[in-house]
Amino acid sequence: MKIGILALQGDFYKHGEVVQKLGHDVLYVKDLATLKKSDKLIIPGGESTTFLRLIEKLKLRDPLVEFGRTKSVMGTCAGLITLATQVDGLPFPPLGLIDINVERNAYGRQINSFIDEVRVNLSGDVVSFEGVFIRAPKIQKRGQGVRELGWHKEAVVMVANENILVTTFHPELSDDLRLHEFFINNFN
Ligand code: GLN
Repeated sequence: MKIGILALQGDFYKHGEVVQKLGHDVLYVKDLATLKKSDKLIIPGGESTTFLRLIEKLKLRDPLVEFGRTKSVMGTCAGLITLATQVDGLPFPPLGLIDINVERNAYGRQINSFIDEVRVNLSGDVVSFEGVFIRAPKIQKRGQGVRELGWHKEAVVMVANENILVTTFHPELSDDLRLHEFFINNFN
């Protein structure tokens, strides 16, 4: 399968490494032509304000929204913010592909970044996963049809709808392929 990874800024190469280890082709998406060749898309961690500025500048908003209505998209951290419906403090509205309200930098500044165990539901099995949280957001509210799939203490840290999967942490930074595998195999 050809997995597109939005490569405008952020840690897209880390996702690329995981996808390659799983035996799929990686397409680094910086333009419409490459997006169109992708079967699925990953929006990485990074800086959501920068993502949204570049998405606007490169005229990728409508194509990305269209892609996310018909194909599957995974977003981690800034990727989650980019895919949400309601987030304060962004220069442009997020893409609105998953009905969640998000607070950016909800755990504090860089110094409050941390690694801790999270529990994730992968096709019915709730398993432990390393959660790398870097200036992470929090999901404040989710709409109907958005399923909780991961938790850190009381916080919901992974949710999905039919075809969009998002995490507030960075599975691409842990030496663990299970979350990407779950996305690639279970979201159409
Ligand atoms: N704080 C960043 C933002 O608001 C997200 C950080 C990350 O992706 N690690 O976009």
